[in-house]
Amino acid sequence: MSGWPLKRIVVAGGGTAGWMAAAAIARTLGRVVELTLVESDAIGTVGVGESTIPPLVAYNRILGINEAEFMRATQATFKLGIQFDNWLEEGKSYFHSFGLTGKDHWSAGFQHFWLAARERGLAGNYGDYCLELTAADAQKFAHLPDDRLAYAYQLDATRYAKFLRQMAEGAGAVRREGKIAEVELDGESGNIASLLLECGERIEGDLFVDCTGFRALLIEGALEAGFDDWTHWLPCDSAIAIQTGSVGPPVPFTRAIAHAEGWQWRIPLQHRVGNGIVFCSKFLERGAALERLMGTLQGDALIKPNHLAFTTGARRKQWHRNCIAVGLSGGFMEPLEATSIHLIQRAVLRMLRMLPLTEISQRDIDEFNEQQMQDFVQIRDFLILHYKATERDDSDFWRYCRNMPIPDTLDQKIELFRETGRVFRKNEELFAENSWVQVMMGQGIVPRAYHPIATKLSDDELGRLMQTIGSSVEQTVASLPGHQDYVTRYCGASAADAA
Ligand SMILES: Cc1cc2nc3c(=O)[nH]c(=O)nc-3n(C[C@H](O)[C@H](O)[C@H](O)COP(=O)(O)OP(=O)(O)OC[C@H]3O[C@@H](n4cnc5c(N)ncnc54)[C@H](O)[C@@H]3O)c2cc1C
Repeated sequence: MSGWPLKRIVVAGGGTAGWMAAAAIARTLGRVVELTLVESDAIGTVGVGESTIPPLVAYNRILGINEAEFMRATQATFKLGIQFDNWLEEGKSYFHSFGLTGKDHWSAGFQHFWLAARERGLAGNYGDYCLELTAADAQKFAHLPDDRLAYAYQLDATRYAKFLRQMAEGAGAVRREGKIAEVELDGESGNIASLLLECGERIEGDLFVDCTGFRALLIEGALEAGFDDWTHWLPCDSAIAIQTGSVGPPVPFTRAIAHAEGWQWRIPLQHRVGNGIVFCSKFLERGAALERLMGTLQGDALIKPNHLAFTTGARRKQWHRNCIAVGLSGGFMEPLEATSIHLIQRAVLRMLRMLPLTEISQRDIDEFNEQQMQDFVQIRDFLILHYKATERDDSDFWRYCRNMPIPDTLDQKIELFRETGRVFRKNEELFAENSWVQVMMGQGIVPRAYHPIATKLSDDELGRLMQTIGSSVEQTVASLPGHQDYVTRYCGASAADAA
Protein backbone atom coordinates (compact mmCIF):
# COMPACT_ATOMS: atom_id res chain seq x y z
CA MET A 1 0.00 0.00 0.00
CA SER A 2 3.05 2.26 0.23
CA GLY A 3 2.53 3.32 -3.38
CA TRP A 4 -1.14 4.09 -2.92
CA PRO A 5 -1.61 7.43 -4.67
CA LEU A 6 -5.03 8.35 -3.30
CA LYS A 7 -4.22 8.58 0.33
CA ARG A 8 -5.28 12.13 1.18
CA ILE A 9 -8.89 11.77 2.32
CA VAL A 10 -10.79 14.86 3.39
CA VAL A 11 -14.04 14.60 5.31
CA ALA A 12 -16.05 17.83 5.09
CA GLY A 13 -18.37 18.14 8.10
CA GLY A 14 -18.28 16.85 11.65
CA GLY A 15 -21.82 15.77 12.48
CA THR A 16 -22.79 12.15 13.08
CA ALA A 17 -21.95 11.37 9.43
CA GLY A 18 -18.55 13.08 9.47
CA TRP A 19 -17.32 11.40 12.62
CA MET A 20 -18.82 8.00 11.76
CA ALA A 21 -16.92 8.19 8.49
CA ALA A 22 -13.71 9.50 10.03
CA ALA A 23 -13.68 6.91 12.83
CA ALA A 24 -14.17 4.04 10.38
CA ILE A 25 -11.59 5.31 7.90
CA ALA A 26 -9.00 5.94 10.62
CA ARG A 27 -9.70 2.64 12.31
CA THR A 28 -9.51 0.64 9.08
CA LEU A 29 -6.59 2.33 7.35
CA GLY A 30 -4.71 3.76 10.30
CA ARG A 31 -1.86 6.04 9.38
CA VAL A 32 -1.69 4.71 5.81
CA VAL A 33 -4.12 7.47 5.03
CA GLU A 34 -3.77 11.22 5.64
CA LEU A 35 -7.20 11.91 7.03
CA THR A 36 -8.41 15.45 7.63
CA LEU A 37 -11.87 16.44 8.89
CA VAL A 38 -13.09 20.01 8.56
CA GLU A 39 -15.97 21.27 10.63
CA SER A 40 -17.33 24.57 11.75
CA ASP A 41 -18.46 25.07 15.32
CA ALA A 42 -20.12 28.29 14.17
CA ILE A 43 -22.38 26.35 11.79
CA GLY A 44 -22.94 23.41 14.15
CA THR A 45 -24.72 20.15 13.41
CA VAL A 46 -28.34 19.27 12.80
CA GLY A 47 -28.45 18.16 16.46
CA VAL A 48 -31.01 15.35 16.16
CA GLY A 49 -30.91 11.64 15.31
CA GLU A 50 -31.33 9.64 18.47
CA SER A 51 -33.17 6.50 17.52
CA THR A 52 -31.24 3.76 15.74
CA ILE A 53 -31.72 0.26 14.35
CA PRO A 54 -29.85 -3.02 15.07
CA PRO A 55 -27.12 -2.86 12.40
CA LEU A 56 -25.49 -0.07 14.44
CA VAL A 57 -24.56 -2.71 17.03
CA ALA A 58 -22.48 -4.44 14.35
CA TYR A 59 -20.96 -1.15 13.15
CA ASN A 60 -19.74 -0.33 16.63
CA ARG A 61 -18.30 -3.83 16.92
CA ILE A 62 -16.43 -3.36 13.63
CA LEU A 63 -14.93 -0.18 15.10
CA GLY A 64 -13.89 -2.13 18.22
CA ILE A 65 -16.07 0.00 20.49
CA ASN A 66 -16.74 -1.21 24.02
CA GLU A 67 -20.53 -1.18 24.22
CA ALA A 68 -20.95 -0.32 27.89
CA GLU A 69 -18.45 2.52 27.58
CA PHE A 70 -20.18 3.85 24.47
CA MET A 71 -23.64 3.64 26.08
CA ARG A 72 -22.41 5.45 29.20
CA ALA A 73 -20.83 8.18 27.08
CA THR A 74 -23.94 8.67 24.93
CA GLN A 75 -26.46 8.20 27.78
CA ALA A 76 -27.96 5.44 25.68
CA THR A 77 -30.79 3.06 26.41
CA PHE A 78 -31.74 -0.12 24.57
CA LYS A 79 -34.36 -0.09 21.85
CA LEU A 80 -36.44 -3.13 20.85
CA GLY A 81 -38.63 -1.45 18.25
CA ILE A 82 -41.10 1.37 17.63
CA GLN A 83 -44.61 1.73 18.94
CA PHE A 84 -46.87 3.35 16.36
CA ASP A 85 -49.88 5.11 17.86
CA ASN A 86 -52.83 6.51 15.87
CA TRP A 87 -51.45 5.50 12.45
CA LEU A 88 -54.21 3.19 11.30
CA GLU A 89 -56.82 5.24 13.09
CA GLU A 90 -56.87 7.38 16.23
CA GLY A 91 -56.70 5.29 19.38
CA LYS A 92 -55.16 2.23 17.72
CA SER A 93 -51.53 1.17 18.19
CA TYR A 94 -49.20 -1.45 16.83
CA PHE A 95 -45.56 -2.30 17.35
CA HIS A 96 -42.79 -2.74 14.81
CA SER A 97 -40.23 -4.81 16.66
CA PHE A 98 -36.75 -5.92 15.76
CA GLY A 99 -36.02 -9.64 15.46
CA LEU A 100 -38.44 -12.32 14.36
CA THR A 101 -42.00 -13.31 15.12
CA GLY A 102 -42.73 -17.01 15.63
CA LYS A 103 -40.94 -19.56 13.56
CA ASP A 104 -40.95 -19.70 9.76
CA HIS A 105 -41.21 -22.89 7.73
CA TRP A 106 -38.96 -22.99 4.65
CA SER A 107 -42.04 -22.77 2.45
CA ALA A 108 -44.01 -20.13 4.33
CA GLY A 109 -43.48 -17.41 6.90
CA PHE A 110 -44.94 -17.68 10.40
CA GLN A 111 -47.78 -15.30 9.46
CA HIS A 112 -49.39 -18.04 7.36
CA PHE A 113 -49.62 -20.38 10.37
CA TRP A 114 -50.79 -17.58 12.61
CA LEU A 115 -53.53 -16.59 10.13
CA ALA A 116 -54.74 -20.19 9.99
CA ALA A 117 -54.61 -20.53 13.79
CA ARG A 118 -56.45 -17.27 14.30
CA GLU A 119 -59.18 -18.36 11.90
CA ARG A 120 -59.64 -21.50 13.99
CA GLY A 121 -59.57 -19.57 17.29
CA LEU A 122 -56.23 -21.05 18.31
CA ALA A 123 -53.97 -17.98 18.32
CA GLY A 124 -53.43 -14.90 20.46
CA ASN A 125 -52.19 -11.57 19.10
CA TYR A 126 -49.47 -11.75 16.47
CA GLY A 127 -47.11 -9.94 18.85
CA ASP A 128 -47.47 -12.65 21.52
CA TYR A 129 -45.08 -14.75 19.44
CA CYS A 130 -42.35 -12.11 19.24
CA LEU A 131 -39.70 -11.94 21.95
CA GLU A 132 -38.66 -8.34 21.30
CA LEU A 133 -42.23 -7.06 21.26
CA THR A 134 -43.21 -8.90 24.44
CA ALA A 135 -40.04 -7.75 26.23
CA ALA A 136 -40.67 -4.15 25.13
CA ASP A 137 -44.21 -4.37 26.43
CA ALA A 138 -42.95 -5.63 29.79
CA GLN A 139 -40.12 -3.00 29.75
CA LYS A 140 -37.50 -5.69 30.16
CA PHE A 141 -34.10 -6.24 28.63
CA ALA A 142 -30.92 -8.31 28.84
CA HIS A 143 -28.26 -9.45 26.41
CA LEU A 144 -29.13 -13.02 25.45
CA PRO A 145 -26.77 -15.64 24.00
CA ASP A 146 -26.40 -15.55 20.20
CA ASP A 147 -27.97 -12.07 20.16
CA ARG A 148 -31.35 -13.77 20.49
CA LEU A 149 -32.92 -10.49 21.59
CA ALA A 150 -32.32 -8.11 18.70
CA TYR A 151 -31.79 -4.52 19.80
CA ALA A 152 -30.51 -1.08 18.87
CA TYR A 153 -29.87 2.09 20.87
CA GLN A 154 -31.59 5.33 21.75
CA LEU A 155 -28.68 7.71 22.15
CA ASP A 156 -27.53 11.29 22.34
CA ALA A 157 -26.27 11.88 18.81
CA THR A 158 -24.08 14.85 19.75
CA ARG A 159 -22.32 12.73 22.35
CA TYR A 160 -21.96 9.89 19.84
CA ALA A 161 -20.16 12.23 17.45
CA LYS A 162 -17.87 13.38 20.30
CA PHE A 163 -17.15 9.78 21.26
CA LEU A 164 -16.25 8.91 17.66
CA ARG A 165 -14.16 12.05 17.34
CA GLN A 166 -11.95 10.88 20.21
CA MET A 167 -11.56 7.52 18.53
CA ALA A 168 -10.80 8.99 15.11
CA GLU A 169 -8.27 11.49 16.44
CA GLY A 170 -6.66 8.74 18.48
CA ALA A 171 -6.25 6.74 15.28
CA GLY A 172 -4.66 9.61 13.37
CA ALA A 173 -7.46 11.80 11.99
CA VAL A 174 -6.65 15.51 12.04
CA ARG A 175 -9.47 17.96 12.74
CA ARG A 176 -9.51 21.45 11.25
CA GLU A 177 -11.90 23.99 12.67
CA GLY A 178 -13.15 26.48 10.13
CA LYS A 179 -15.80 27.44 7.65
CA ILE A 180 -15.44 26.16 4.10
CA ALA A 181 -15.71 29.26 1.93
CA GLU A 182 -15.11 27.62 -1.44
CA VAL A 183 -14.84 24.18 -2.98
CA GLU A 184 -12.08 24.44 -5.58
CA LEU A 185 -12.21 22.28 -8.69
CA ASP A 186 -9.33 21.06 -10.82
CA GLY A 187 -9.69 22.90 -14.13
CA GLU A 188 -8.72 19.86 -16.19
CA SER A 189 -10.43 16.89 -14.54
CA GLY A 190 -13.37 18.68 -12.92
CA ASN A 191 -12.58 16.82 -9.70
CA ILE A 192 -12.48 18.58 -6.36
CA ALA A 193 -8.93 19.75 -5.74
CA SER A 194 -9.24 21.47 -2.37
CA LEU A 195 -11.41 23.18 0.20
CA LEU A 196 -10.63 26.80 0.85
CA LEU A 197 -11.45 27.86 4.41
CA GLU A 198 -12.57 31.35 5.36
CA CYS A 199 -9.31 31.81 7.28
CA GLY A 200 -7.41 31.31 4.03
CA GLU A 201 -6.18 27.79 4.73
CA ARG A 202 -6.41 25.43 1.75
CA ILE A 203 -7.02 21.71 2.34
CA GLU A 204 -6.08 19.55 -0.60
CA GLY A 205 -7.18 15.96 -1.06
CA ASP A 206 -7.52 13.01 -3.42
CA LEU A 207 -10.88 11.80 -2.18
CA PHE A 208 -13.52 14.00 -0.51
CA VAL A 209 -16.32 12.77 1.72
CA ASP A 210 -19.17 15.25 1.79
CA CYS A 211 -20.71 15.21 5.27
CA THR A 212 -21.88 18.83 5.22
CA GLY A 213 -25.47 17.86 5.95
CA PHE A 214 -28.44 19.39 4.10
CA ARG A 215 -26.08 22.00 2.60
CA ALA A 216 -24.36 19.31 0.48
CA LEU A 217 -21.63 21.83 -0.28
CA LEU A 218 -19.41 19.52 -2.30
CA ILE A 219 -21.62 16.93 -3.98
CA GLU A 220 -24.32 19.41 -5.01
CA GLY A 221 -22.90 22.89 -4.41
CA ALA A 222 -19.75 22.21 -6.42
CA LEU A 223 -20.45 19.06 -8.44
CA GLU A 224 -24.21 19.37 -9.08
CA ALA A 225 -24.92 15.66 -8.71
CA GLY A 226 -28.69 16.18 -8.86
CA PHE A 227 -31.50 15.31 -6.46
CA ASP A 228 -34.58 13.08 -6.75
CA ASP A 229 -37.37 14.83 -4.87
CA TRP A 230 -39.79 12.37 -3.20
CA THR A 231 -42.00 14.92 -1.48
CA HIS A 232 -45.05 13.70 -3.40
CA TRP A 233 -44.67 10.33 -1.61
CA LEU A 234 -43.21 11.49 1.68
CA PRO A 235 -44.83 14.92 2.11
CA CYS A 236 -43.56 15.84 5.60
CA ASP A 237 -40.98 18.59 5.18
CA SER A 238 -40.57 20.16 8.63
CA ALA A 239 -39.72 19.19 12.17
CA ILE A 240 -39.32 20.79 15.57
CA ALA A 241 -37.13 19.00 18.11
CA ILE A 242 -36.95 19.60 21.84
CA GLN A 243 -35.44 17.80 24.81
CA THR A 244 -37.26 17.30 28.10
CA GLY A 245 -36.40 15.89 31.51
CA SER A 246 -37.41 12.30 32.20
CA VAL A 247 -40.65 11.73 34.06
CA GLY A 248 -40.19 7.99 34.58
CA PRO A 249 -37.83 5.14 33.79
CA PRO A 250 -36.85 4.99 30.10
CA VAL A 251 -38.79 2.43 28.08
CA PRO A 252 -36.87 0.21 25.64
CA PHE A 253 -38.69 1.52 22.59
CA THR A 254 -39.30 4.67 20.57
CA ARG A 255 -42.79 6.05 20.10
CA ALA A 256 -44.12 7.45 16.82
CA ILE A 257 -47.46 9.10 17.49
CA ALA A 258 -49.44 10.20 14.46
CA HIS A 259 -51.32 13.50 14.55
CA ALA A 260 -53.57 15.17 12.02
CA GLU A 261 -50.71 16.51 9.83
CA GLY A 262 -47.78 14.18 10.56
CA TRP A 263 -46.41 12.56 13.68
CA GLN A 264 -44.43 13.05 16.87
CA TRP A 265 -41.49 11.13 18.30
CA ARG A 266 -40.57 10.34 21.87
CA ILE A 267 -37.13 8.80 22.47
CA PRO A 268 -36.15 8.07 26.07
CA LEU A 269 -32.44 8.25 26.96
CA GLN A 270 -30.91 7.69 30.37
CA HIS A 271 -30.85 11.33 31.38
CA ARG A 272 -33.59 12.93 29.28
CA VAL A 273 -36.16 12.40 26.54
CA GLY A 274 -35.87 13.47 22.90
CA ASN A 275 -39.17 14.77 21.51
CA GLY A 276 -40.16 16.19 18.21
CA ILE A 277 -42.94 16.87 15.81
CA VAL A 278 -42.74 16.07 12.11
CA PHE A 279 -45.28 17.73 9.85
CA CYS A 280 -46.13 18.85 6.38
CA SER A 281 -45.94 22.64 6.11
CA LYS A 282 -48.58 22.68 3.37
CA PHE A 283 -51.12 21.48 5.89
CA LEU A 284 -49.86 22.80 9.23
CA GLU A 285 -48.19 26.12 10.11
CA ARG A 286 -45.02 26.22 12.17
CA GLY A 287 -46.63 28.07 15.06
CA ALA A 288 -49.47 25.58 15.29
CA ALA A 289 -47.02 22.68 15.11
CA LEU A 290 -44.97 24.14 17.96
CA GLU A 291 -48.08 24.63 20.06
CA ARG A 292 -49.12 21.03 19.41
CA LEU A 293 -45.67 19.75 20.39
CA MET A 294 -45.43 21.86 23.54
CA GLY A 295 -48.92 20.81 24.55
CA THR A 296 -48.00 17.14 24.58
CA LEU A 297 -44.61 17.27 26.35
CA GLN A 298 -44.43 15.19 29.50
CA GLY A 299 -41.37 16.71 31.20
CA ASP A 300 -39.85 20.18 31.51
CA ALA A 301 -38.21 21.53 28.36
CA LEU A 302 -34.41 21.58 28.66
CA ILE A 303 -33.56 23.49 25.49
CA LYS A 304 -35.18 25.89 23.06
CA PRO A 305 -37.12 24.26 20.22
CA ASN A 306 -34.94 23.43 17.21
CA HIS A 307 -36.74 24.12 13.90
CA LEU A 308 -35.69 22.05 10.90
CA ALA A 309 -36.82 22.06 7.29
CA PHE A 310 -36.03 19.34 4.76
CA THR A 311 -36.91 17.91 1.39
CA THR A 312 -37.36 14.15 1.27
CA GLY A 313 -35.39 12.49 -1.50
CA ALA A 314 -32.00 11.21 -2.55
CA ARG A 315 -28.96 12.58 -4.33
CA ARG A 316 -28.94 11.06 -7.84
CA LYS A 317 -25.24 10.35 -7.73
CA GLN A 318 -24.05 9.69 -4.21
CA TRP A 319 -20.52 9.22 -5.52
CA HIS A 320 -19.61 11.72 -8.23
CA ARG A 321 -16.07 12.29 -9.49
CA ASN A 322 -13.82 12.19 -6.39
CA CYS A 323 -16.57 13.00 -3.92
CA ILE A 324 -18.78 10.65 -1.89
CA ALA A 325 -21.86 11.96 -0.09
CA VAL A 326 -22.44 10.47 3.34
CA GLY A 327 -25.30 11.45 5.65
CA LEU A 328 -27.84 14.17 4.97
CA SER A 329 -25.82 15.44 2.00
CA GLY A 330 -26.74 12.14 0.28
CA GLY A 331 -30.45 12.48 0.97
CA PHE A 332 -33.04 12.30 3.69
CA MET A 333 -36.26 10.40 4.03
CA GLU A 334 -37.58 11.66 7.35
CA PRO A 335 -36.94 9.90 10.66
CA LEU A 336 -40.01 7.66 10.95
CA GLU A 337 -38.12 4.34 11.02
CA ALA A 338 -34.78 5.77 12.23
CA THR A 339 -32.96 4.85 9.04
CA SER A 340 -30.63 7.82 8.51
CA ILE A 341 -27.76 6.77 10.75
CA HIS A 342 -28.08 3.35 9.15
CA LEU A 343 -27.70 4.89 5.69
CA ILE A 344 -24.55 6.63 6.92
CA GLN A 345 -23.20 3.31 8.10
CA ARG A 346 -24.04 1.61 4.78
CA ALA A 347 -22.34 4.38 2.79
CA VAL A 348 -19.21 4.36 4.95
CA LEU A 349 -18.75 0.59 4.85
CA ARG A 350 -19.49 0.52 1.13
CA MET A 351 -16.95 3.30 0.55
CA LEU A 352 -14.30 1.36 2.46
CA ARG A 353 -15.06 -1.78 0.46
CA MET A 354 -14.76 0.15 -2.79
CA LEU A 355 -11.84 2.37 -1.86
CA PRO A 356 -10.13 3.52 -5.06
CA LEU A 357 -6.95 1.62 -5.86
CA THR A 358 -4.52 3.37 -8.18
CA GLU A 359 -7.18 5.63 -9.62
CA ILE A 360 -10.88 6.26 -9.22
CA SER A 361 -12.76 3.74 -11.34
CA GLN A 362 -16.04 4.68 -12.99
CA ARG A 363 -17.13 1.06 -12.49
CA ASP A 364 -16.70 1.43 -8.72
CA ILE A 365 -18.66 4.67 -8.87
CA ASP A 366 -21.51 3.08 -10.85
CA GLU A 367 -21.65 0.07 -8.55
CA PHE A 368 -21.63 2.26 -5.45
CA ASN A 369 -24.38 4.50 -6.78
CA GLU A 370 -26.57 1.57 -7.79
CA GLN A 371 -26.25 -0.07 -4.39
CA GLN A 372 -26.82 3.18 -2.50
CA MET A 373 -29.89 4.06 -4.53
CA GLN A 374 -31.28 0.59 -3.98
CA ASP A 375 -31.01 1.10 -0.20
CA PHE A 376 -32.74 4.46 -0.47
CA VAL A 377 -35.55 3.17 -2.69
CA GLN A 378 -36.27 0.12 -0.52
CA ILE A 379 -36.41 2.23 2.63
CA ARG A 380 -38.48 4.86 0.82
CA ASP A 381 -41.13 2.27 -0.07
CA PHE A 382 -41.27 1.00 3.50
CA LEU A 383 -41.81 4.53 4.81
CA ILE A 384 -44.50 5.36 2.26
CA LEU A 385 -46.40 2.25 3.41
CA HIS A 386 -47.03 3.89 6.82
CA TYR A 387 -48.71 6.89 5.21
CA LYS A 388 -50.56 5.18 2.40
CA ALA A 389 -52.12 2.27 4.24
CA THR A 390 -54.23 4.17 6.73
CA GLU A 391 -57.89 4.45 7.54
CA ARG A 392 -57.46 7.99 8.85
CA ASP A 393 -59.80 10.39 7.15
CA ASP A 394 -59.75 13.22 9.68
CA SER A 395 -57.62 15.78 7.82
CA ASP A 396 -56.59 16.93 4.35
CA PHE A 397 -53.12 15.57 5.09
CA TRP A 398 -54.29 12.00 5.68
CA ARG A 399 -56.75 12.17 2.80
CA TYR A 400 -53.84 13.20 0.57
CA CYS A 401 -51.74 10.29 1.83
CA ARG A 402 -54.53 7.73 1.42
CA ASN A 403 -55.18 8.80 -2.14
CA MET A 404 -51.66 9.47 -3.41
CA PRO A 405 -50.31 7.19 -6.14
CA ILE A 406 -47.43 5.05 -4.85
CA PRO A 407 -44.38 3.51 -6.56
CA ASP A 408 -45.13 0.28 -8.47
CA THR A 409 -42.58 -1.56 -6.34
CA LEU A 410 -44.58 -0.81 -3.20
CA ASP A 411 -47.92 -1.47 -4.85
CA GLN A 412 -46.71 -4.95 -5.85
CA LYS A 413 -45.54 -5.67 -2.30
CA ILE A 414 -48.81 -4.55 -0.71
CA GLU A 415 -51.09 -6.34 -3.16
CA LEU A 416 -49.05 -9.55 -3.07
CA PHE A 417 -49.36 -9.58 0.72
CA ARG A 418 -53.06 -8.75 0.62
CA GLU A 419 -53.79 -11.56 -1.85
CA THR A 420 -51.44 -14.27 -0.59
CA GLY A 421 -49.91 -13.33 2.77
CA ARG A 422 -46.50 -13.55 1.12
CA VAL A 423 -43.68 -11.05 1.40
CA PHE A 424 -40.17 -11.43 0.06
CA ARG A 425 -36.94 -9.76 1.08
CA LYS A 426 -34.93 -8.81 -1.99
CA ASN A 427 -31.26 -7.95 -2.48
CA GLU A 428 -30.08 -7.49 1.09
CA GLU A 429 -33.05 -5.26 1.80
CA LEU A 430 -32.80 -3.61 5.22
CA PHE A 431 -36.33 -4.40 6.32
CA ALA A 432 -36.91 -8.14 6.44
CA GLU A 433 -40.20 -10.02 6.16
CA ASN A 434 -41.01 -9.57 9.87
CA SER A 435 -40.89 -5.78 9.51
CA TRP A 436 -43.14 -5.73 6.47
CA VAL A 437 -45.64 -8.14 8.00
CA GLN A 438 -45.86 -6.21 11.27
CA VAL A 439 -46.28 -2.84 9.60
CA MET A 440 -48.67 -4.06 6.90
CA MET A 441 -50.91 -5.78 9.43
CA GLY A 442 -50.52 -2.86 11.85
CA GLN A 443 -51.65 -0.53 9.08
CA GLY A 444 -54.70 -2.69 8.43
CA ILE A 445 -53.60 -4.80 5.46
CA VAL A 446 -54.80 -8.28 6.31
CA PRO A 447 -54.10 -11.12 3.87
CA ARG A 448 -57.13 -12.73 2.24
CA ALA A 449 -55.46 -16.14 2.16
CA TYR A 450 -52.56 -18.10 3.56
CA HIS A 451 -50.24 -20.82 2.34
CA PRO A 452 -51.94 -24.22 1.92
CA ILE A 453 -49.26 -25.81 4.10
CA ALA A 454 -50.95 -24.24 7.13
CA THR A 455 -54.20 -26.08 6.30
CA LYS A 456 -52.32 -29.38 6.51
CA LEU A 457 -51.94 -28.99 10.26
CA SER A 458 -54.71 -30.34 12.48
CA ASP A 459 -56.17 -28.12 15.22
CA ASP A 460 -54.05 -30.02 17.71
CA GLU A 461 -50.84 -29.49 15.77
CA LEU A 462 -51.53 -25.84 15.05
CA GLY A 463 -52.59 -25.16 18.64
CA ARG A 464 -49.45 -26.88 19.95
CA LEU A 465 -47.25 -24.83 17.60
CA MET A 466 -48.76 -21.57 18.84
CA GLN A 467 -48.66 -22.71 22.45
CA THR A 468 -44.99 -23.80 22.28
CA ILE A 469 -43.80 -20.56 20.69
CA GLY A 470 -45.99 -18.37 22.89
CA SER A 471 -44.90 -19.97 26.14
CA SER A 472 -41.22 -19.93 25.17
CA VAL A 473 -41.53 -16.17 24.59
CA GLU A 474 -43.41 -15.73 27.85
CA GLN A 475 -40.89 -17.70 29.90
CA THR A 476 -37.91 -15.92 28.39
CA VAL A 477 -39.44 -12.52 29.05
CA ALA A 478 -40.34 -13.51 32.63
CA SER A 479 -36.67 -14.33 33.24
CA LEU A 480 -35.40 -10.93 32.01
CA PRO A 481 -34.57 -8.05 34.35
CA GLY A 482 -36.28 -4.70 34.02
CA HIS A 483 -34.80 -2.44 31.33
CA GLN A 484 -33.99 0.38 33.75
CA ASP A 485 -32.22 -2.00 36.20
CA TYR A 486 -30.21 -3.55 33.42
CA VAL A 487 -29.14 -0.19 32.01
CA THR A 488 -28.13 1.05 35.45
CA ARG A 489 -25.97 -2.02 36.10
CA TYR A 490 -24.51 -2.36 32.62
CA CYS A 491 -23.88 1.19 31.53
CA GLY A 492 -25.49 3.58 33.98
CA ALA A 493 -24.13 7.09 33.58
CA SER A 494 -23.24 9.10 36.66
CA ALA A 495 -24.43 12.65 37.24
CA ALA A 496 -21.03 13.83 36.01
CA ASP A 497 -21.47 11.85 32.77
CA ALA A 498 -24.87 13.45 32.27
CA ALA A 499 -23.59 16.99 32.74
C1 LIG B 1 -35.99 15.98 12.48
C2 LIG B 1 -34.96 14.92 12.30
C3 LIG B 1 -34.96 13.82 13.14
C4 LIG B 1 -34.00 12.80 12.94
N1 LIG B 1 -34.05 11.68 13.71
C5 LIG B 1 -33.23 10.64 13.42
C6 LIG B 1 -33.28 9.44 14.14
O1 LIG B 1 -34.03 9.30 15.10
N2 LIG B 1 -32.46 8.44 13.75
C7 LIG B 1 -31.59 8.56 12.71
O2 LIG B 1 -30.91 7.60 12.36
N3 LIG B 1 -31.49 9.72 12.05
C8 LIG B 1 -32.27 10.74 12.37
N4 LIG B 1 -32.17 11.91 11.69
C9 LIG B 1 -31.09 12.07 10.73
C10 LIG B 1 -29.80 12.37 11.48
O3 LIG B 1 -29.96 13.49 12.30
C11 LIG B 1 -28.66 12.58 10.51
O4 LIG B 1 -28.60 11.50 9.61
C12 LIG B 1 -27.35 12.66 11.22
O5 LIG B 1 -27.39 13.59 12.26
C13 LIG B 1 -26.24 13.01 10.26
O6 LIG B 1 -26.24 14.35 9.93
P1 LIG B 1 -25.01 14.90 9.10
O7 LIG B 1 -23.77 14.60 9.85
O8 LIG B 1 -25.13 14.39 7.72
O9 LIG B 1 -25.29 16.46 9.05
P2 LIG B 1 -25.08 17.60 10.18
O10 LIG B 1 -25.33 17.10 11.54
O11 LIG B 1 -25.87 18.75 9.70
O12 LIG B 1 -23.55 17.94 10.08
C14 LIG B 1 -23.03 18.75 9.06
C15 LIG B 1 -21.61 19.15 9.38
O13 LIG B 1 -21.09 19.88 8.30
C16 LIG B 1 -20.50 21.07 8.81
N5 LIG B 1 -20.58 22.12 7.80
C17 LIG B 1 -21.63 22.48 7.03
N6 LIG B 1 -21.30 23.53 6.25
C18 LIG B 1 -20.00 23.81 6.51
C19 LIG B 1 -19.06 24.77 6.05
N7 LIG B 1 -19.40 25.71 5.13
N8 LIG B 1 -17.82 24.74 6.55
C20 LIG B 1 -17.43 23.85 7.49
N9 LIG B 1 -18.28 22.91 7.97
C21 LIG B 1 -19.54 22.91 7.49
C22 LIG B 1 -21.30 21.40 10.06
O14 LIG B 1 -20.58 22.24 10.92
C23 LIG B 1 -21.48 20.00 10.64
O15 LIG B 1 -20.33 19.63 11.35
C24 LIG B 1 -33.06 12.94 11.90
C25 LIG B 1 -33.04 14.08 11.11
C26 LIG B 1 -33.98 15.08 11.30
C27 LIG B 1 -33.94 16.29 10.43
